[in-house]
Amino acid sequence: METRASLLEGGPLATRIKQDVKTEIEQMVRTQDVRPCLAAVRVGDDPASAVYVGNKIKACEEVGIRSEHHALPATTNTAELLDLIGSLNSRDDVDGILTQLPLPAAIEERAIIEAIDPHKDVDGFHPVNVGNLALGRPSFVPCTPAGIIELLVANDVEIRGARACVVGRSQIVGRPMAQLLLQRDATVTICHSRTRDLASVTSEADLLIVAIGRTGMIRREHIKAGATVVDVGMNKVSDAAAVRELFRDDADRRLEVLSKRGYTLVGDVHPAEAAEVAGRLTPVPGGVGLLTVAMLMKNTLLAARLRRNQV
Ligand code: NAP
Repeated sequence: METRASLLEGGPLATRIKQDVKTEIEQMVRTQDVRPCLAAVRVGDDPASAVYVGNKIKACEEVGIRSEHHALPATTNTAELLDLIGSLNSRDDVDGILTQLPLPAAIEERAIIEAIDPHKDVDGFHPVNVGNLALGRPSFVPCTPAGIIELLVANDVEIRGARACVVGRSQIVGRPMAQLLLQRDATVTICHSRTRDLASVTSEADLLIVAIGRTGMIRREHIKAGATVVDVGMNKVSDAAAVRELFRDDADRRLEVLSKRGYTLVGDVHPAEAAEVAGRLTPVPGGVGLLTVAMLMKNTLLAARLRRNQV
């Protein structure tokens, strides 16, 4: 008999994390008259970046973090952006700084990431924080993989001793994800675009985390029966035939979304095939994405605490 994967929803956990952050901030304001502050920096007119920063600012409002939105024109150069980062670094009332990526091609992204004070680096991208994570020392952890660990732990997914496979080796998801799984005693394999016979590797994994940016690429043959599958991908699909193929018997709701919005979001994992093989599966949307912003709130609170020697 065919069984269907149970869904690992991110929404309820994201709400809980934000509620906990809110409670702690209320206490900070009450007892110390301190309200944490996050400065979000965005350059240019990329609509997706504007939406992401908007969501982060909205989450700040929800939890009581003060936020600043520095939206700079596309013509901004590296030196000008470095000036802004320098001034945010030196301001005592700013606890966290994030620069929305990707930056316009003309800006030296690496120089900007490295200019952020590691103590205010709530995205966890500065080499000091990346190095501390690799050494297994406390650090700011990038929000998406940190949220995935919270999701696995909250749902009692066994990490210790599990065979974990991470597909994708980006700085923001794949690499830190692998480090976090290793810290929790998983046996970790990292795959990427040069991996030979991907399915033979991924199908051994009890825990499969996919962050590649390729719509529905992970199919039935990539997944071990009963595995926990975490789909980080967020891809827009605007073709009705593709939606039917990806969602099969469940396509109606998605086709409705498509006709209203002009697209629907699909992960890197083929949703219909994964549902038939996996034991647990994160939905897209409604899975990992919601946790990323919640973890940013948590990191900003942590930065405010660390800067006041309260951890
Ligand atoms: P990225 O920087 O583009 O990295 C993609 C990775 O996937 C690379 O390591 C690449 O390998 C690998 N890859 C590409 N094609 C592959 C293939 N055919 N087989 C095996 N590996 C392949 O992407 P990212 O920033 O990590 O993002 C990945 C996805 O997650 C995107 O859809 C993005 O939108 C989504 N995302 C979601 C969230 C969220 O909050 N939900 C956050 C971040 C990202 P090489 O290194 O060999 O090129």
